[in-house]
Amino acid sequence: MNDILRVNNLAKRYPSFSLEGITLDLPAGYIMGLIGENGAGKTTLIRTILGMVQADEGTVELLGRPVDKEVLSQVGVVFDQSHLVEEWKVAEAEKALMAFYPQWDRETFRRCLERFAISPGKKVKELSRGMQTKLSLSMALSHRARLLILDEPTSGLDPASRDELMELLADYILDGEKSVLFSTHITADLERGADFITYLHRGQLLYTGPKEELMESFCLVRGEKEAFVPRVKERVIGLRRYGSGYEGLLRAEDVGLLPPSIQRERVTIDQIMVFVGKEELA
Ligand code: ATP
Repeated sequence: MNDILRVNNLAKRYPSFSLEGITLDLPAGYIMGLIGENGAGKTTLIRTILGMVQADEGTVELLGRPVDKEVLSQVGVVFDQSHLVEEWKVAEAEKALMAFYPQWDRETFRRCLERFAISPGKKVKELSRGMQTKLSLSMALSHRARLLILDEPTSGLDPASRDELMELLADYILDGEKSVLFSTHITADLERGADFITYLHRGQLLYTGPKEELMESFCLVRGEKEAFVPRVKERVIGLRRYGSGYEGLLRAEDVGLLPPSIQRERVTIDQIMVFVGKEELA
């Protein structure tokens, strides 16, 4: 498969936090969601992939090559805070970026601004936080990047704009040549739009692979207290009281252990994160 991004055994160590052994592949034509609790290492991973901080171990390949200035010009990046000069008007910000990106596409930028209702005459500081995110997205989409890396792009957006963004991303990868990696805490966006999930937990890789595989590898179980006999109870992840009974996560391979009185349901990504987090705290 044609990989847009390959990360192999990447590590970044800070005095009080380390990201360890991160390996992932993102093929062309797909969207990967990056999830994990606050402080799990998502931004650190993104910054290390982009060479903004130096890795202590491991390798990153973008478009089949080691990361350098040229290959980075084919990556569109959006962080949760805008790095644009506040006094610039939108049109001036475009001019400044055109100088950096030879492939800049003015027509795409114009259409994005129109779609997001951003006036080219406005100053960056006159835009709300959500509008600044939309401006950064418009920029990332306008230099014919092969990979978009977005760090919490949806956190400041209203539901309609989030929906619009997910549609935009789906259109963006449609030709099968480009990919998107985006971190978010809004897992409903991933359930709708991501093909792959990479799940970090305390700097470690808990899962990377197809979203459906992650969701099918667990189920949510609920039932009366008595039904949770010890051999079931010990297999449940993040067991907690639920009304007069219990609920928790169960791995798909353990489903055979369940008595009929315990209900099972399809699990959401949010639920996986909540119950895995509880297990750690217990
Ligand atoms: P959130 O969801 O809250 O944005 P995150 O998963 O993006 O979190 P990171 O921002 O990657 O998490 O932070 C992971 C850890 O790395 C934190 O404990 C943070 O304090 C630490 N860290 C990040 N940058 C540095 C740095 N420059 N020096 C030292 N520690 C750092």
